[in-house]
Amino acid sequence: EFAVVEAAPPIEVFQLSRDCQADTHTQKINLGVGAYRTPEGKPWILPVVKKAEAQLAKDIDAETINHEYLPVLGLDSFATAATSMVLGKDSPALKEERAFGVQSLSGTGALRNGAEFLFRQLKRTVFYFSDPTWGNHGLIFKNAGFTDARKYRYWNKDTCGFNFEGMIEDLQNAPEGAVIILHACAHNPTGIDPSQEQWGKIADVMQEKKLFPFFDCAYQGFASGDLDQDAWAVRFFVERGFEMFCSQSFSKNFGLYNERAGNLTVVVKDKSLIENMKSQITLIVRAMYSNPPAHGGRIVDLVLKDEQLFKEWCECIKVMSSRIIEMRQGLRERLEKLSTPGQWNHITEQIGMFSFTGLTPEMCQFLLKEKHVYLLKNGRISMCGVTPSNLDYLAESINEAVNK
Ligand code: PMP
Repeated sequence: EFAVVEAAPPIEVFQLSRDCQADTHTQKINLGVGAYRTPEGKPWILPVVKKAEAQLAKDIDAETINHEYLPVLGLDSFATAATSMVLGKDSPALKEERAFGVQSLSGTGALRNGAEFLFRQLKRTVFYFSDPTWGNHGLIFKNAGFTDARKYRYWNKDTCGFNFEGMIEDLQNAPEGAVIILHACAHNPTGIDPSQEQWGKIADVMQEKKLFPFFDCAYQGFASGDLDQDAWAVRFFVERGFEMFCSQSFSKNFGLYNERAGNLTVVVKDKSLIENMKSQITLIVRAMYSNPPAHGGRIVDLVLKDEQLFKEWCECIKVMSSRIIEMRQGLRERLEKLSTPGQWNHITEQIGMFSFTGLTPEMCQFLLKEKHVYLLKNGRISMCGVTPSNLDYLAESINEAVNK
């Protein structure tokens, strides 16, 4: 039976982590995976998450919560809190009761739930993602049934900046009804977000051409350290009157990677549409995984609802985002001090977890093979893997790679 099965290509980022783990070199650095690390290079369980988990353990003990199935669309209080976190408490869509959330298997699952719905119910087949984008967008939409994957221009390799004109032109040429995946903030992998004025033009074209915005919000709080600021683009599109989807991930901002805590926020024109939509999404989820896990959703729910815990969480987000900003400065300073050929201002201008260095595949290969620095071959580095103790080695290694 199974002899027909061919080997699939490995997933680059997971392969990198495995290779790095097997590497015995003392100065190896893993800049592949997008996961926060402390200045000592260790994973971080947010103290506020530990507190919430201690509370949940008590609730389990008292049997006020249990391991019964959640509803198909998840914990309602979590989905409502997550929806309000991204749309903002004063959102017109919330006031008019024309928005709702679906607890999903983290950001990936929210994208998949949304894509399944758009393909099955609205027969959408064309989707656009930025060039470049997070490696999973194409696979998620194709596996949901979308047949026509297209790119819009985003990265300008000459300036290591945003190709705004290219993006607008590609959106202008998109067919009516196409689904456009937009990174809400901290674009992965480039770390470049449109300005507010540019978002205005993007919204103009999308409205004129009747394109459907599907925001992917995986880094709220992580970009600027401020939850509201990072949700600006999503809220702006709501104010402009779009119907839209927004996937939310709590992997990064809560450090809940393996708990699969996420939400699909749905905004529609009229609240009368919601009941039918929920009933269809229910069938989609039922067939895929029946209902979501509770633990991560409960943690997020507790923190978002409790004023004190919420404050503590905001502090944690600031710790993470400022550490990344410091490392950006440290890396840029060192490269400039070494007079590494090229411009390095983009390292501090880019925001979020990643930096798109502009290093060529050959330079990346050199770093990997000769320097034990593990990064994606498109030149993306996770700034979280950069620490005060490996900054010098990293800058010197990049300097060598560029000068080769
Ligand atoms: N979208 C983007 C742009 C991402 O970078 C990620 C995480 N790497 C996700 C979605 C989803 O991650 P998760 O499924 O862990 O929430």
